[in-house]
Amino acid sequence: MSDENDNIHPDPVIQDIHDHTGRGWYGCVVGEGWHSIVKDVHTQILAKFPDYEVWQIKEKFGGLRYYCSVDGDEDVQAVICKAEELSWQTCEDCGSTENVTTAGRPYWVRTLCENCGTPNVV
Ligand SMILES: [Zn+2]
Repeated sequence: MSDENDNIHPDPVIQDIHDHTGRGWYGCVVGEGWHSIVKDVHTQILAKFPDYEVWQIKEKFGGLRYYCSVDGDEDVQAVICKAEELSWQTCEDCGSTENVTTAGRPYWVRTLCENCGTPNVV
């Protein structure tokens, strides 16, 4: 068993996000339903900042959060802001935009479609 390259992601863009993740950071930890949103953000930031660092891409209170080393750039802020808005209407599990609701317990809220289950029921 080799330690290197043992977690290559089948999606090259997601893999690229992992490659851009700063040392010690979590990287992309959102459900697959949001991968297309995340990939879009990554591609757009990359176009302007080819060497930027991803810190953490996660779900918080049912919405997408995209933390990276780019700070104070209006274009990037707009891209991330748009992605966060989009995440509220997109199922984090399957990417569906139909019958999507954000619900759950106070500290564990997820944005899911009807098919992926009612989030507040275990
Ligand atoms: Zn779903």
